[in-house]
Amino acid sequence: MKCLYFLFEAFERLENKYNYLDNYVIPVVADWSGQVNIRRAITLRINKGDEFGISKQVLSLIPIIGPLHISLNNRETLFQTYYFFFEELYHHLFGEKKILSHKPKQTVINLILDLTFNGWKKIRNIIMNRFENSKDIEYRMIIDLLDNSIPHTLDIYTTLFRSIYFEGYLEGVARIWILFQRLRRHNYNKASLVFLTLQIIQNAKIIDVERNSNLSFKEAFVNTRNPAISQVKLNYLEKKVSLFLFSLFDEIFYNLENTNQIDNNKYPSFALLSFKTNIDVNVFPLAWSTKNKPFKNKFCDAENCLLPNNIELSNNSIIILICGYGFHKECLNSCNGNCSHCFNYLSLEIKKNANSLTERLNIPLKDNEKPLVEKSVYDNNTNENIDKNIQEIIENLEQNIDNQFENLYQKWSNYNSL
Ligand SMILES: [Zn+2]
Ligand SMILES: [Zn+2]
Repeated sequence: MKCLYFLFEAFERLENKYNYLDNYVIPVVADWSGQVNIRRAITLRINKGDEFGISKQVLSLIPIIGPLHISLNNRETLFQTYYFFFEELYHHLFGEKKILSHKPKQTVINLILDLTFNGWKKIRNIIMNRFENSKDIEYRMIIDLLDNSIPHTLDIYTTLFRSIYFEGYLEGVARIWILFQRLRRHNYNKASLVFLTLQIIQNAKIIDVERNSNLSFKEAFVNTRNPAISQVKLNYLEKKVSLFLFSLFDEIFYNLENTNQIDNNKYPSFALLSFKTNIDVNVFPLAWSTKNKPFKNKFCDAENCLLPNNIELSNNSIIILICGYGFHKECLNSCNGNCSHCFNYLSLEIKKNANSLTERLNIPLKDNEKPLVEKSVYDNNTNENIDKNIQEIIENLEQNIDNQFENLYQKWSNYNSL
């Protein structure tokens, strides 16, 4: 409400002169905590008129979450959710004694995500060939992170939004909503859901017009690489990431089907042998948040599957989706190519979110009321010293890693021909 007050102040002069808010709208780009009360004022004004003394001009405000907010939140969320992975990687890259803060600066998070993805790209195919169609939880978890969440998070702002590729951006926000939903980030899942459902239709038309202008997707691509680090150092670090991943996937391979659930809570925990840590179920791909979990002793997870599951399945006839469910292609096609387990879960969660949001936005105003939003878990306190050190650490890296990389790459390539 305070935010609204300042806005009205700022526009008061214009208002008196030109009836500004009667003739124009103002987009209010804000984080969820910044928009929830404006949305509430709008809802109350629409449903209750001037019962609470809310001015009609509030209807000229359009609260909207910005793409940069979505992107930065998503990066932090990923980093903190998979901290157990990134910490190990960080030690491998920079030494066991180097401490990785739980809340590093964005530049450090960006560097780590970027290195991880580029190190993964170099070895992606030979890793996936060795594991073939494994539905193992640890394996599916790390594939979901490396091959889905990270590239997607890196793309959403720098590529999709800034190149004005609107359809891609829209799909991107939908995917981020799914991730926030799974991770139970309750403020952000509402903000992105509201963005998807309320704002998108008007904006789509405007941005799509711009998109068809002379700015091509490729021309608008924005390079995210850190200019302060030389290409040689980056190559070295990426290969070092690959080496780390080789040894991690070796462990995962030897621990296949050995992940144990350790409690029966509503959101159960699991012991991950390869990562030597216990994690919450929400770290797993989407399939493990749905009502049915993927079968352990049967490949196809389609509800009405009548095809054989126990014979050697040919790669051309089956598929494992990024959510973790496996299907005969024939079974998936018979559901119009949709994973019904995830579809049902997401539909239900959208309804739940929409209901709780409607309820929240309709709460009447009281005198001296407390803010409706809980404080964000993440504040901007970062450990300056640790972050400053990273430049220094990178300067002093040794650089000869090519032989080691080639040897391991050969070794892994041979697994395929076995
Ligand atoms: Zn089937
Ligand atoms: Zn699914």
